[in-house]
Amino acid sequence: MKQMIDGHTRLLGVMATPIRHSMSPAMHNAAFEKLGLNNVYLAFEVGNDDLEQAVNSIRVLDMIGVNVSMPNKQKIIPYLDELDISAELNQAVNTVVNNDGYLKGYTTDGVGFVTDLQKKGHPIKNQSIVIAGAGGAGTPIAIQCAMAGAKEIKIFNEQGPHFKNVARNVAIINERTNSNATGEDLNNQTAFKEALASCDIYCDATSVGMSPLQDQSLINHASYFHSDMVVYDVVYSPRETKLMTVAKKAGVKEVYNGLGMMIEQGAAAFKLWTGEEMPVGFIKQTLF
Ligand code: NAD
Repeated sequence: MKQMIDGHTRLLGVMATPIRHSMSPAMHNAAFEKLGLNNVYLAFEVGNDDLEQAVNSIRVLDMIGVNVSMPNKQKIIPYLDELDISAELNQAVNTVVNNDGYLKGYTTDGVGFVTDLQKKGHPIKNQSIVIAGAGGAGTPIAIQCAMAGAKEIKIFNEQGPHFKNVARNVAIINERTNSNATGEDLNNQTAFKEALASCDIYCDATSVGMSPLQDQSLINHASYFHSDMVVYDVVYSPRETKLMTVAKKAGVKEVYNGLGMMIEQGAAAFKLWTGEEMPVGFIKQTLF
């Protein structure tokens, strides 16, 4: 039965720009309807200039909470009352929970990655993980893998605006968790290849593989892979990236796109807001 909006309906949303492409409203509203929760989730086109007012509206309108995405993930921090450890270590927030006007920020992107791999039968604990990319996706993935007990995390990034994040992420992981992290320039292909040869999980957390770089892969040769590894591309459009095709041809059996991560980061936010498990199987079946 279709959920009716009435005087008791509670509001949630995502505050970002651009945001009209987001799958989050469809995902959360389908989950609310499936579970019979009287909530509605909308997309709000909000940038840095209006962010403070928008955050105050969470309190004024007694919203359950919000997601935030670019360009607000860091800028929102001063407007919140508290950060969860994941948001503190990432210095970024993608989920806010409103508890009677007290706003707490979380980061669920890394949780999405770790949960998706766990559900696919690949726990992170004691694993050796190589991550390409130290941007908005690579940073929470590296930090959450460390929080989940990864043995070692080797981070690679091209020389560019995100390269400075490598040293920061390595320092945070080594100082605040029991994992051992190292960082390297992606141009050092010898180090990259050596790291891949001994890793359990390789995660490509770069935008390579997605439009306008959909015909590209950071790895184009079978010699970079071994058959026992997991290869995970955070990109999910297209569903099979060039990296995934190359990895499969090289004989890697466990090759995944980032769709599961995207759904699980939403499921983690859903749980924080409602206390309920998102019906992930139903969402996958009906929306993706
Ligand atoms: P970002 O702009 O913050 O970071 C981009 C990263 O890609 C940086 O590390 C950058 O150095 C690297 N990069 C870009 N072009 C490169 C190239 N030619 N060679 C080598 N490295 C290159 O973006 P982001 O938020 O980290 O997003 C990265 C990708 O992850 C996007 O495709 C995005 O759609 C995807 N993503 C997926 C999920 C999910 O839930 N599956 C979540 C967030 C982001």
